[in-house]
Amino acid sequence: MTKLRDFGVSLDEESLGFNPEELRRKYKAERDKRIRVDGNRQYKETAGDFSKYVDDPYADKEFNRAQLSDHSDVVIIGGGFGGLVSGARFREIGTEKIRIIEKGSDFGGTWYWNRYPGAMCDVESYIYLPLLEEMNYVPIEKYTHAPEILSYCKKLADHYDLYRDACLQTEVTEIKWDARSAVWVISTNRGDAMTATSVVMSNGPLNRPKLPGIEGINEFEGHTFHTSRWDYDYTGGSSDGGLTGLKNKRVGIIGTGATAVQCIPHLGASAKQLFVFQRTPSSIDVRNNRETDPEWVKNLAPGWQKRRMENFNSLVSGGSENQDMVGDGWTEIYRNLTGMLPPEGFEKLSEKDMGLATELADFKKMESIRNRVDAVVNDKETADALKPYYRQFCKRPCFHDEYLETYNKDNVKLIDTQGLGVDKITKNGVVVDGTEYELDCLIFATGFEVGTAYTRRSGYEVIGKNDLKLSDKWKDGPQTFHGMFSHGFPNCYFLGVIQSALTTNFVHLLMEQTKHIAHVVKYCGEDNTKLVEPTLEAEQEWVTLIKRNAHRGERFFAECTPGYYNNEGNHDKSNGFLSNAYGKGPVAFFDLLEDWKKSGTYEGLMINERVEEIR
Ligand code: NDP
Repeated sequence: MTKLRDFGVSLDEESLGFNPEELRRKYKAERDKRIRVDGNRQYKETAGDFSKYVDDPYADKEFNRAQLSDHSDVVIIGGGFGGLVSGARFREIGTEKIRIIEKGSDFGGTWYWNRYPGAMCDVESYIYLPLLEEMNYVPIEKYTHAPEILSYCKKLADHYDLYRDACLQTEVTEIKWDARSAVWVISTNRGDAMTATSVVMSNGPLNRPKLPGIEGINEFEGHTFHTSRWDYDYTGGSSDGGLTGLKNKRVGIIGTGATAVQCIPHLGASAKQLFVFQRTPSSIDVRNNRETDPEWVKNLAPGWQKRRMENFNSLVSGGSENQDMVGDGWTEIYRNLTGMLPPEGFEKLSEKDMGLATELADFKKMESIRNRVDAVVNDKETADALKPYYRQFCKRPCFHDEYLETYNKDNVKLIDTQGLGVDKITKNGVVVDGTEYELDCLIFATGFEVGTAYTRRSGYEVIGKNDLKLSDKWKDGPQTFHGMFSHGFPNCYFLGVIQSALTTNFVHLLMEQTKHIAHVVKYCGEDNTKLVEPTLEAEQEWVTLIKRNAHRGERFFAECTPGYYNNEGNHDKSNGFLSNAYGKGPVAFFDLLEDWKKSGTYEGLMINERVEEIR
C-alpha cells in the first residue's frame, strides 16, 4: 500500500503549521471535561411547568372549527418541508384528497417556529429550497434568510393546492389502524376522528425545544423564552433585527450553537448589556453571502437543481467530483483533502492513511477557524475562549460574518463556563463560578430534543395491526425497512434520518424519500391494491445491516466532544440522532433506492395482496 508520505504529504509540524499530536491531546482534554454521566437526561422536557416555552406566539388565539370525521387519500402529519414535498409528490401522482395536519397556524415547520432575529439557512438556498425548477423560483441570496424560506413554504402550499384540505393549529394525539375498514383513524386535540388510506409521518428531526436542567431554572423572575418561540412583543423588532424593546435591558443567552450564533449579533446590537453564557464554542466559518446573480440564473439548464444537490451531496460525503458547484465552507474540508492528495491517492491509500489524511485536512480547517477568531476578536481571553477544539463535524459547523465581531462591542460579554455550563439560575439572573449576572431577560438557545423515544418527540402514539404500539415495537430502537416502512403499520410512511441516510442538506433526503414513497403508492393505486407494508424478514435484514455498518462513524463520534450529534457522548445508544443512519452514506443510500425502484420487483414489501390476506 502507498503511504501518505509517498504523495509528498509531510507530517512534520513545520510544514503543517501545527502539531497533530498536541492537537489530539488538546481535543481529548476538552472532550473529557465535558462528558457527563447524565448525557441526554441533563435536559428538561418542555412539558408541565415548562410548557409555556412551547406556546405558539404566532397562533390565532380565536381559531376554531368544526370537528372532522371525513376521509382523505393521505394524511400527512407535519407541514414543514417534508410535509410540503410529500404533498407535492402525491399531487404529481394524481392523489385527490391530501390533508396536511400541522400544529402551527401555517406551513413552514422549522421555519414557522424559528423566526428569531438573524435566522437564515446555512445550506446554500439553491440546493436547500425544494422544487425550485417546478416552482420557477430562484432565491434572492446564496444563503437565504428565514422570512423568504417561510414565504416560499406558503408558495409551495398554494402551488400544490395544499391549503384546501389542510388542518392547521391542530395536533395529532393518536393514529390507529382500523383493520375492518383498512384505514387509519387520526385523532387530534380538536376532537377530530378523521380517516385516511395512507399516513405520512413528517414530524421533523428537531421539532421539540429542550431546556437545560439547570438548578433554579424555574425561579428566574425576569422575562424568559426559547429561541424557537421568539417573543417579539417583548424584544421589539423583527427577523431583520432592530430589537428596540431591549434598549434598556440586561439580556442573557444560554447556548452558543447554530441558533445563538445567528441571533447574538442582533442582541448585541440592541441590548443595553448582553451576557453570552457559553459551554462549548461553535466553529465559525466564513459566510460570504451574496445576492443571486441574474446572469447566472439565465444560464441555468433544466435539471440544474438536482445536479447541484447531487454534486454537493457527493462532495460532503467524501466523494470525488470534477467540479465543486456550491463551493462553500461545507465542501471546503473535502477540497482541502483533494488538494492534499492526487486523484489516485484515494484509491491507493490504506484505510488507516486515508483516515490520517482526513484528520490532517480537518486539523487544517479548524486551525483556520481558530486563526479567524484571533484575527477578529480584540480581547485575547475572549478570543481564546471562542476557539473550538474538536473535529469540525463533531458539532454543527456555523458560518457567520458578524458573530465574532459582536464580542468587540463594549456592551457584550462572553461568560465562558469552561465546558461545565452555568452553575444555577436565581430569581435575579445566572450564576457562573460564584458570580451572579443580573438580568432582565434570559433567552434559551439550548436546542431541540434528540435521543428520546420517537413517539415522545412526535407527540402521539401510532397503533398498528393487532393493537401493536409503535412505542412498544421501537422501545429498543427503531425497526424499519429502508427507514420508511415498518412491519405491522400498513400504508404508513416515515420521513427523516431514522435508519436512512444522513445528509448535510436534509431537504435532499426528503426529496428522495418522498419520491420513493410516491412511487410505491402509485404502484399500489395502479394495481388496485390497498395495503403495503414490509415483510418482517426484509425489515430484520435492514435493521441488521444498519447495525452492522453503524460502527463506521463510531470511533469518530466516540472521540468527539459531547453534543446532539453523538447523543451527548453516548453515540452507541440506539436512539441517538446519528446512531441509526445508513452507514455507507447518502450517495449509496440514494443509489440503493434507485436500483430498488428500477428492479420493479418491490422486494421486501407485501403489496399486490388482497386486504383480507394481509390483515
Ligand atoms: P444546539 O443543540 O446546537 O445548541 C444548544 C446550545 O446550548 C449548545 O451551545 C449547548 O452547549 C448549550 N447548552 C446546553 N445546555 C447548557 C447548559 N447547561 N449551560 C450552558 N449551555 C448549554 O441548538 P441550536 O438551536 O443552536 O441548533 C440546533 C440545530 O438546528 C443545529 O444543529 C442545526 O442543525 C439547526 N439549525 C440550522 C440552521 C441553518 O442554518 N440551517 C440555523 C440554526 C439551527 P454544548 O455545545 O456544550 O452542548
